[in-house]
Parts: sequence; structure tokens; C-alpha cells
Amino acid sequence: MEKKIIVAIDGHSSCGKSTMAKALAQKVGYIYVDTGAMYRAVTLFALRNDMFDAEGQPKAEELEKAMADVNISFVLDEETKLPLVCLNGEVVESEIRSLTVSSRVSPIAALPFVRAALTQAQQRMGLEKGIVMDGRDIGTVVFPDAELKVFVTASAEVRAQRRYLELTAKGDEVCFDDILRNVQERDYIDSHREVAPLRQAEDALLLDNSELTREEQMQWLLDTFKRVVECQ
Ligand code: C5P
Repeated sequence: MEKKIIVAIDGHSSCGKSTMAKALAQKVGYIYVDTGAMYRAVTLFALRNDMFDAEGQPKAEELEKAMADVNISFVLDEETKLPLVCLNGEVVESEIRSLTVSSRVSPIAALPFVRAALTQAQQRMGLEKGIVMDGRDIGTVVFPDAELKVFVTASAEVRAQRRYLELTAKGDEVCFDDILRNVQERDYIDSHREVAPLRQAEDALLLDNSELTREEQMQWLLDTFKRVVECQ
């Protein structure tokens, strides 16, 4: 039987990492894990429990005490067979994609105790390999020995435009400039935090998809995956 590997897909915000990762997992029969959804679910918990101060900064001490009560899990969507993220048993897939959560998630993701808890949970999910995981620190921190690492990027404007179309298609009333600012802010915080900052792992393949169609990048990913698996 073919040896299973770990695929780590990292990169900037809104550059289509999840779309690629999901599609690859479905095609090759691997488990897909969206780690951004886990950080978003913790953020939703903090928002619901009034754990941000007037400046929009997380009340870290309160959140740290409450972390034992934050249970993040995934259930499979019956129809799509894709995982949906749950916060204490409630599916929150739609709530976590709002601009409110997007604008608060990076400060939450910079908290060392949040990263420690989620990193540990993610490493457990990958014990048996056969997993495609996307995020910011998968190839650098969560699975530094992943057999295939991809670092995805695109210009901030292209990424904001994609996110804008996604949110307006869902009926959200959003403004392009707010989204662009959010994308740029998250890139900055994610790349400059002390713990597990966003950076390309030395052995990651760089994919700039500004000029690529979904089909082109999918073909590239699938070909690369096959090549890596054959070498195992
Ligand atoms: O991938 P997504 O944009 O949904 O991630 C939301 C936020 O979660 C990111 O902007 C980042 O702050 C944080 N994140 C992280 N590490 C990961 C995945 C996401 O810090 N592995």
C-alpha cells in the first residue's frame, strides 16, 4: 500500500489555502484540517464571553483561565464529507467566517497558551499521517517533518478581492477597503508575533497564485503530491 504522508499548507491570509487543501484531501482520500478555523473558534468563544477590552485586545488572563472549558472539535458534513468546526459541540462554521471574528483572530492567535493548546491538538490529529493541514505554522512548528510543505501567497489586493466576493456571495454587507485592511493587518500580526510567526519553512515550495486559476494550482498541487508520495 502507498505510504501516507503529511501535507502542510501555510501562507498569507485569504490566498485560497483552504480551497486547495480541501480539494487535495478529497481527491487523495486524506483527512483535511483547517487550523485557522480552530483559532477562529477560540476567538468566537472570547467574543461571546466578553473577553476583549475597549481597545479590542484580548483579556488574556480571563481567557487562559477559561481555556479548559473551550473544546474545539470537528464533525463531518454528511453531504460534502468535509469537516465542520465545533465550539463546545455546536457547529460554528458560519459564525467564525464573519469580519468581526476575522478582525479579532490574530491577537488571539498570538497568545502563547492558545497556540500551545491548539498545536498539541493538531499534532494528535496527524499521528496516523494521511492528513492535509492548512494554517500559518504547520510546516514550521506543528509538523516540521512533514513530507510535503507548500507556502502559498498572492498580492494583498487579489486576496482581498477573493474574500470580498466570497462574503458578498453569502449576502454579507462588507466593504472592499475594510477587507483589504483586515488582510494586511492579519499578515502583519501573524508575521511579527513572538510565538510561531508566519514564515516560509526552508524546505517549503513557494506557490504564488496571483495569476493562476483554481484549476491550474490544483493540477500543480496534485502533481507535486504524486511526485512526493512516489519518493517515499
Ligand atoms: O486561515 P484563516 O485565515 O482562517 O486563519 C485565521 C487566523 O488564525 C490567521 O489570521 C492567524 O492569525 C491564525 N492562525 C494561526 N496559525 C494557524 C492558523 C491560523 O495563527 N496555524
